Amino acid sequence: MKQSELFTKMRKEAPSDEVSKNAELLIRGGFVHKEMSGVYSYLPLGLRVLRKIENIIREEMDKVGGQEVLMSSFQPKENWEKTGRWESMDDLYKVKDSSDREVALGPTHEEVVVPILKNYVSSHKDFPANPPLSIYQIQNKFRMELRAKSGMLRGREFMMKDMYSFHTSQEDFEKFYAKMQDVYKTIFSRVGIGHLTYLTFASGGTFSKYSHEFQTLSSAGEDTIYIDEASGIALNKEVFTDEVLSQMNLKKEKLVEHKAIEVGNIFDLKTKYSKPFDLSYTDEKGEKHTVLMGCYGIGLSRLLGTVVEVLSDDKGIIWPESIAPFAVHLLVLGEDEAVLKEAGKVYDSLSKVNIPVLFDDRPGVSPGEKFAGSDLLGIPMRAVISARSMKEGGVEIKKRTEEKGKVVSLDELIKLCSKNSTN
Ligand code: ATP
Ligand code: MG
Repeated sequence: MKQSELFTKMRKEAPSDEVSKNAELLIRGGFVHKEMSGVYSYLPLGLRVLRKIENIIREEMDKVGGQEVLMSSFQPKENWEKTGRWESMDDLYKVKDSSDREVALGPTHEEVVVPILKNYVSSHKDFPANPPLSIYQIQNKFRMELRAKSGMLRGREFMMKDMYSFHTSQEDFEKFYAKMQDVYKTIFSRVGIGHLTYLTFASGGTFSKYSHEFQTLSSAGEDTIYIDEASGIALNKEVFTDEVLSQMNLKKEKLVEHKAIEVGNIFDLKTKYSKPFDLSYTDEKGEKHTVLMGCYGIGLSRLLGTVVEVLSDDKGIIWPESIAPFAVHLLVLGEDEAVLKEAGKVYDSLSKVNIPVLFDDRPGVSPGEKFAGSDLLGIPMRAVISARSMKEGGVEIKKRTEEKGKVVSLDELIKLCSKNSTN
């Protein structure tokens, strides 16, 4: 894509009311547009990143047999009354129409997925053990967040992957739950933050002892976790009691406190949502039982913001190759005819072999401004065509994470990028 044709422009300053680093960088780069507190629109560059994250998550959900759906955002009030959450959920948006009828604007989808499923399942045969029945979606959620000051980390409208699994025995559930822990680790590694992300014990709410969160270390995080470095076990501050410590065989003095961002979590729901809707099955003997459930969330927009938060430097964003909006940022410097022609040729060659390239062909923009812009956008590889690179017979390349560049041939650049841009 040619940068001169991109409708978004980079900005020197973010809106003055934006206090979070992730949103500041994303807005300045033209990845997102802030509509109001906690509400952002994705622009072409931001949408490319979001789609890549989405595809990684989708691939991993499909691998465990997840069946993708897209459920409605408008949800019947009756369903929410049935689970008691119409009253108890503080951050639920309640929308009234002109005839005074109320609906919920979906903050999560237990109240929708369970009644849907009830239409289709009733026998133990409908609940295979391997792979178990699991349903997921990647969809916008709405929550009346009062602390929406963390940019993409806490939206009032935000993107989430939510999966729900259904089982006829606790043992089957536990097997799947353990598998999902691994799947989540894979996802966070593929997105580029695996080295900073900890599986963390958190309080389980009413029905189970623990739930697990995936917490990414960051000073921007709203959560406090404690890590036992030797075992790699992490605990959320909210579960931090002497009783829990002794159960887990951990010593208080060994724990190190960190700020962290909850990028995902997984829950044992037991029959919390299946019971109110009487989602049940009959076993081999014809006896009726309530279905057991698990749920598994990842905030995609929060994940995107987290990557920016933890992988940027003072010049801008540093995208991991797996989710970068483009593999190469091609810059042409100066207005010399021969240089412009050569840059156009390089752009065509890269495009022809399907290497995603953003071509900074903007006329009348100084080299300094192009370099600064490239650092802000954070595309993993920068390739410069200038009078100097032409004299040296190639393209001057530099990784976003490196200080110094080098001149390589076009063929070499193509080889390097094909290796890197595997998705
Ligand atoms: P938090 O404690 O941060 O409010 P939560 O416990 O309410 O999160 P869940 O309801 O379990 O979160 O949602 C699943 C995932 O969705 C979270 O792990 C997080 O990654 C993401 N998420 C939750 N709330 C938001 C939000 N307001 N903006 C962006 N992502 C969110
Ligand atoms: Mg919340």
